[in-house]
Amino acid sequence: MAKFVFVTGGVCSGLGKGITASSIALLLKAKGYKVFMQKFDPYMNVDPGTMSPIQHGEVFVTADGCETDLDLGHYERFIDEELNYTSNITNGKIYSSVIEKERRGDFLGATIQIVPHISNEIKNKIYEAAKTSEADIVITEIGGTVGDIESSVMMEALRQFRLEQGRENTLFVHTTLVPYLFGSNELKTKPTQNSVIELRRLGIQPDIIVTRAPLDLGNAIRAKIALFGSIPEKNIIEAKDVNNIYEIPINFHRQQIEDIILNQFGLKITKSNLTFWEDLLDKVNHLDQEIEIALVGKYVELEDAYLSVKEALKHAGYQFLTKVKINWVDSEKLEGSRVSLDEVFQHSSGILVPGGFGSRGIEGKILACQYAREHKIPYLGICLGMQIAVIEFARHVCGISDASSTEFDEACKSPVIDLMADQKSVVNKGGTLRLGNYPCQIKKGTLAYQDYQQDLILERHRHRYEFNNQYMEILKANGMVFSGINPDSGLVEIIELPKHPHFIACQFHPEFKSRPTKAHPLFVSFIESAIQYAKTENGKKTN
Ligand code: GLN
Repeated sequence: MAKFVFVTGGVCSGLGKGITASSIALLLKAKGYKVFMQKFDPYMNVDPGTMSPIQHGEVFVTADGCETDLDLGHYERFIDEELNYTSNITNGKIYSSVIEKERRGDFLGATIQIVPHISNEIKNKIYEAAKTSEADIVITEIGGTVGDIESSVMMEALRQFRLEQGRENTLFVHTTLVPYLFGSNELKTKPTQNSVIELRRLGIQPDIIVTRAPLDLGNAIRAKIALFGSIPEKNIIEAKDVNNIYEIPINFHRQQIEDIILNQFGLKITKSNLTFWEDLLDKVNHLDQEIEIALVGKYVELEDAYLSVKEALKHAGYQFLTKVKINWVDSEKLEGSRVSLDEVFQHSSGILVPGGFGSRGIEGKILACQYAREHKIPYLGICLGMQIAVIEFARHVCGISDASSTEFDEACKSPVIDLMADQKSVVNKGGTLRLGNYPCQIKKGTLAYQDYQQDLILERHRHRYEFNNQYMEILKANGMVFSGINPDSGLVEIIELPKHPHFIACQFHPEFKSRPTKAHPLFVSFIESAIQYAKTENGKKTN
């Protein structure tokens, strides 16, 4: 039977609960335990798939095709394990499944109530994660802040869970803020005290308190938090602000958080294997050059909308001890003649067009792609970024001037990108995109093959539109190479332009599979080419 760690948050959001949960999981894995992770989100959407990236940030896609919270991206990057449908549970998911069971007659005769029906459903999701993953330890993060109305039933389920499983099988980690007040020049413990009181009001006593603070706590503050929080002083783990999130597991390890957890569970405390992470930190702290990559999107006011892309660029940079600076370009602003593309891209050594939906900002992305192609600047297109590259090439190289996607122009005469056949009858928007892992056959002798060194790959998808194979011959005749094809459906997965030093685009999302210790091959070669480009005469290297 598995053991369970629950991570809650107090005082305010944005304290790094997701990173705390991921760091704990990484440290337990480094002790040789099999770990699995789960996030509870208290909103009523069934999943974040239909939410605006500007509200919610990126939608992370799991291998089995679930649209999930971006924290799952942190989890996978830290623990390097594939998560699945049991990993992201929302109130929407819980309520709709209980109501479905009620309609089916599963509870005939009973009055359906928040407790026990909703709380049981929540507990079942925790047990299900443990069962399907066969993990030794399941780490569950509860979104939101303790005291929120939305998460109260989730907290109630956790209270019951501890009652069922006992203290030897469950452990509560509460993350809080210890703010520094200028003027009185001291750290304040009251917000932490109050949030622990709030947690206790829900029937939960934390076992570990993780304190986010700008400074070391010092003995007096630690003693005070321990006393009011009713925990031993050693169970207070300091999460001092850091420059790089990858430092956090090592900080926690120094405070032996994993030993506290294993002790409570009565599990053996083995030696930690953290060399791989220390090596990563060593690289991260010794980056000796910088390059700039332009990321052309329409949600750029919220960097979190492109979180995995941002991380994947960083990971690839680490391989070359290079810091990747992102030039955030709002594609809509490129439209019209008000801005000079030369100016926008003057310091950029690569142009990346990531995923996106809807017609706003499309023409600006096409301009950016054209600029990359014509100026021989390395280009990486992801999902929408591949569709853009196809449209741009069809229009400006093949002379199909009205080429477009039926997503932006339903009546378009030359739909080089079109709705997939099986999408035409789809009515509901939620959960109906082409999602998750699909295979892709790679053609030998191409850039894609050089990157992957493999014939068959699996990558994660999230899209409704597709390259229209009726245009394949004419694009081929003009020099586009279709280097990746789905072997089952014949759908185009990767395109490239061999006459260009580095122009490649894919229908899938490689960023979801990048890890800090294992950068993704498409990002690695893109960054390598950008570094090369920066050295050429055209490359306007800044450093
Ligand atoms: N909007 C495009 C589609 O649905 C691309 C999606 C994406 O970039 N994730 O096919």
